[in-house]
Amino acid sequence: MRSAVLMFVALAATGVLATPARAEIQTHVKVKAGDTLTVIARRYDCTVAAVQRANALEGTLILAGQRLAVPVCRGKDAARKGVRRVARAERIEIPLVSGQSVGKPWSGKLRNATRLPEGRGYLIRRPLRAFGAAHVVARVRNAIATVRADHAGLHTLAIGDLSQKSGGAISEHHSHQSGRDLDIGFYFKRKPAGYPASFAAATTRNLDRAATWDLLVAFARTADEAGGVQAIFLDYDVQGMLYDWALDRGVDEDYLDRLFQYPDGKGSGGGLVRHEPHHDDHFHVRFKCPPRDKSCT
Ligand SMILES: [Zn+2]
Repeated sequence: MRSAVLMFVALAATGVLATPARAEIQTHVKVKAGDTLTVIARRYDCTVAAVQRANALEGTLILAGQRLAVPVCRGKDAARKGVRRVARAERIEIPLVSGQSVGKPWSGKLRNATRLPEGRGYLIRRPLRAFGAAHVVARVRNAIATVRADHAGLHTLAIGDLSQKSGGAISEHHSHQSGRDLDIGFYFKRKPAGYPASFAAATTRNLDRAATWDLLVAFARTADEAGGVQAIFLDYDVQGMLYDWALDRGVDEDYLDRLFQYPDGKGSGGGLVRHEPHHDDHFHVRFKCPPRDKSCT
């Protein structure tokens, strides 16, 4: 009896009894470039706070390559189910169909085109030019759904041209011929006059850099996937706005250097995102061919 009491006192003194049970760990994840704590937490039905606690994180800064423990999340640690269900439901499979995209983006055509349907949160400016290869259309829909799941209260996004139904040359573009190109607008803190019926140029005052960054990353993160993004064309100064914003928030500098030409100059090599004149009011996203599709070049 006496020794048991002594043991209790000793344990209490070293704090063992005061420490709550360690969180049960659901899994470990390695942070990918562009991941946010919110996205990771939601993927596993957890609140951000629960993941922070399991990793002794004080802020929301996470870095590519970092390993995070994801706890089992119940009760107050469980994310609101509805949020995740919406995000999940809107994701669609990526079909990889051969023979739709024929030739090159600047000298090609489109067969059995897939139309980008009307959808929640975006406006198709010119429905006659809303056709693409099936994987392109699916990836566009998923990218928009991902951003909308992570940001409350976004305004409608402007969708510019993809290709016309049969592809081929169209006015105002050199490319957009084979169903692999998409012009897509930005998110703004205050929806500019005329937007989304027209694109609006990004300014440091007006650009919603958090949502626009997430839109960019939703595309860029597919660069290593089959039929994922091949290149993104974006004005150099707008690259700078997003680069500075991301750097300030602790996004890995090596990742930013692989993503942008900024700050090395408009003509600098490397970078998924390339400067093009007249691209300060939209991203021009070009997708790769489906694998083993001989008609698409
Ligand atoms: Zn374009």
